[in-house]
Amino acid sequence: MDISSFFSATYAEAREKFLTACKARSLDIQSHLNPNSKGQQGEDLYMDVVRIGSDTASKFLVISSATHGGEGFCGSGIQVGLLQEGMLNNLPSDTAVLLVHAINPYGFSHVRRVNEDNIDLNRNFIDFSIPRPDNAPYREVHDWILPKDWEGPTKDVADAAIAKYIEDKGMPTFQAAVTAGQHIAEDGVFFGGKKASWSNDTIRSVIKEHAGDAQHLALLDIHTGLGPYGHGELIYVGAKSGFNRAMNWYDGEVTDPSAGTSTSAEVFGTMEQGISQMSPNATHTSVAIEYGTIELMEVLNALRADNWLYIHGDVDTPLGQNIKATVRNAFYCDADDWKAMIWERGHTTISKALAGLANS
Ligand SMILES: [Zn+2]
Repeated sequence: MDISSFFSATYAEAREKFLTACKARSLDIQSHLNPNSKGQQGEDLYMDVVRIGSDTASKFLVISSATHGGEGFCGSGIQVGLLQEGMLNNLPSDTAVLLVHAINPYGFSHVRRVNEDNIDLNRNFIDFSIPRPDNAPYREVHDWILPKDWEGPTKDVADAAIAKYIEDKGMPTFQAAVTAGQHIAEDGVFFGGKKASWSNDTIRSVIKEHAGDAQHLALLDIHTGLGPYGHGELIYVGAKSGFNRAMNWYDGEVTDPSAGTSTSAEVFGTMEQGISQMSPNATHTSVAIEYGTIELMEVLNALRADNWLYIHGDVDTPLGQNIKATVRNAFYCDADDWKAMIWERGHTTISKALAGLANS
C-alpha cells in the first residue's frame, strides 16, 4: 500500500483521484457545482458526494473533508484511501457511508481556511433569523489581527500588542478570542458570515436527501492544524447527550472543548448543527478528527497572514507566495511519516465508528 499516493498537491488533483477511485468502484457521484467562484487555476469547483452501501439504510456514517478548505489535503487523502483500499466494501445491510469531498472547494483550491466570502464555514451554521452573537473579545484583538501592512512598523506594533495580550491573559484566552467565531468583522478571521453560505445550503440538502430519515447518524469531519504533529485528536462536536456514547465508541479518547479537555477552544456555529437539523429523527454521534501540523501560534499567524493577503495584499507577489507557502504548511505536512500517521488513525477511527453504529 502506497499511502502517500492517496494524497494530492492541489484541489484539482485531489478531485481527480477521488472521482477516479469512485468510478473504479462503479459508484454514482453527485457533483454540486459552486456557482459563486472559481478555483486557483480557473477550474470549476464542486462538492462531490458518493453514497456507499444500502439504499434503504437507517444508519449513516458521514465522512467529510475540506470544511476548512486547505485542510482538505488531509481529508481527501483519507477518503481516497478508503475507496482505493476497498475498506467500505462490506457494510451491514442497514448502513450507508456518505463521503463528502470538498465541502468548501474554494478554500481547498486556493489553500485558504475560509470560503469565497471570507467565511469560516464551521462558524456559519447559526440561526440567522435572530441577531447574530457578538464576540466582544474579538473586538479587542481585531485591529492587531489585521494590520494595514504585513511588514514594517504597523505590523511590529500589532505583533507587540498580541504578545502583550497573551502575556497578560494567557494563550487559551487569546485562542478563544480569535477562534471562537465572530460576526462583527467580515474582513476578520474566523468570521461566521451574515447568511448561510453555498456550502451550508448544499450540505444541508445532501443530508436531507440521503439521511433525512436516518435513525442514527455518525459524523467524522476531518480537520488539520491543532495538536501534536500527525496526531488525530477526536473532538466531540455534538449535543451534550451524545458525549458518553462517543467516548464508548472511541475507547475513551474523545475530548470536549466545553470542558477544556481539547486543543480547540469552544466554538459556535459548526457544521454539525446543520447536519443534525437535517436528520431530525436521528441519534447523532459527531466528532471532528483534528490532525496536528505545526505549532499553534504559527498556525494562527499563518491564518492571520492569509487573511491580510486577501484583504490588503496581492497573492502574485513574492510576499504573497511566501504567505501561501506558510499557510499550506499550516494545513498539510507533505511528508511520508505524517501521511502514514493520518491514514492509520483515520481508518482505525472509521472502523470504530462503523462498529459503534452496528452496535447501536
Ligand atoms: Zn478545521
